[in-house]
Amino acid sequence: MNNETVKVVKFGGSSLADAEHFLKVRDIILAEPRRRYVVPSAPGKRSSSDTKVTDMLYDCYRLAEEEYDFGEEFSLIEERFNTIIADLGLDLDLTGEFETIKGAFKYHAGSDYAASRGEYLNGMILAKLIGYDFIDAAKVIKFFDNGTFDAEKTQIILSDRLTRHERAVIPGFYGTLPNGTIKTFSRGGSDITGSIVARAAAADLYENWTDVSGFLMADPRVVDNPCTIDTITYHELRELSYMGATVLHEDSIFPVRFAGIPINIRNTNDPGAPGTMIVPSADGFDSGRVITGIAGKKGFSVLNIEKDQMNAEIGFGRKVLQAIEKEGATFEHLPSGIDTMSVVVSADITERQRKDIVNSICESCEPEAIAFEDGLALIAVVGRGMVRAKGTAARVFKAIAESDINIRMIDQGSSEISIIIGINECDFEKALRAIYAEFVK
Ligand code: ASP
Repeated sequence: MNNETVKVVKFGGSSLADAEHFLKVRDIILAEPRRRYVVPSAPGKRSSSDTKVTDMLYDCYRLAEEEYDFGEEFSLIEERFNTIIADLGLDLDLTGEFETIKGAFKYHAGSDYAASRGEYLNGMILAKLIGYDFIDAAKVIKFFDNGTFDAEKTQIILSDRLTRHERAVIPGFYGTLPNGTIKTFSRGGSDITGSIVARAAAADLYENWTDVSGFLMADPRVVDNPCTIDTITYHELRELSYMGATVLHEDSIFPVRFAGIPINIRNTNDPGAPGTMIVPSADGFDSGRVITGIAGKKGFSVLNIEKDQMNAEIGFGRKVLQAIEKEGATFEHLPSGIDTMSVVVSADITERQRKDIVNSICESCEPEAIAFEDGLALIAVVGRGMVRAKGTAARVFKAIAESDINIRMIDQGSSEISIIIGINECDFEKALRAIYAEFVK
């Protein structure tokens, strides 16, 4: 084993959808000897009307479970893999694997097993193409009986196993329960496997290769041609992801964050682009920008409560939150004034839940006014640079006011890395564009 630095590289489904992409992936891996551990997804879509292999496997298994003939559907899956193998000119025959999988489908091996075969077979093809060892994730990624991921057991088994392989491909998305049954992570879970492998390999960097050149500062469906974020902290990423900005599976942050390993989001179709670095702390990564990104979501409701002398009443807030908890609802934000308190909740709570919450608060708190208001959108302006830049909030509010938009709620967390504002849903796009234009000239 050598002591040089290690990179773990994960490739998403769109990066492995056909032979042409496999060759790009091969070139990327072989360009740097440090790219020693590779985590592939299953083949993704080749065009917008195509179907991901994972979805084909789920559909095919559904037929098997209902005792329908699934031969035709399965042959389409075989064809996807065989076309890749033939186009790459590989000396690899998966017939035996296909037969085993079909047999397992007949015996109802489970939909997780079925879905996991996309990564399993793709891993075999990639290992063959680049000449790396193949490690079946079933042997090294472990779950508890209740289906949650067993981080410590996996770390022990996987880190030991990696010391015996100089270079290896470990398929993403699945592992096993204690009884040996295959279990998958939730959709998009190969990102999580990549992060777990990076931790076990004590990697210096986890490269996550996808089809975009990193995180954008704002949603490109709203803002024209937004800039790419060059560096973002885990904390900032969490704030932006909460508001719906997604490139990475949310759970993929934990293993590498725990180990302090940065993630680099890269584009398989533009390997020269530096992408986005996600780092534990921003020391030494000053982007020079006050804000890192802007994200937002529609679909919130706010419960406004008013009562004179509310601030002096011990237990007032607890009783309000208890009423919400009793209904099994969660609250998103809690902006409050001297005699007012607002609770922002997701708008999908039912009419009955709303009534019960209001009745329960009326009984326990005797407010002077209480009512739900709908149609709220939230925008988070996130940036570690805000702490040192005075007047950031003023600039956000000025941009919104100049667009003739009324602010319905303001919330700034104590960490000072985000400002959250509530506006009417109909003003959402306009407000996002106005804030972006204010900070990105
Ligand atoms: N193939 C799985 C999915 O489509 C996992 C992944 O791609 O990360 O969800």
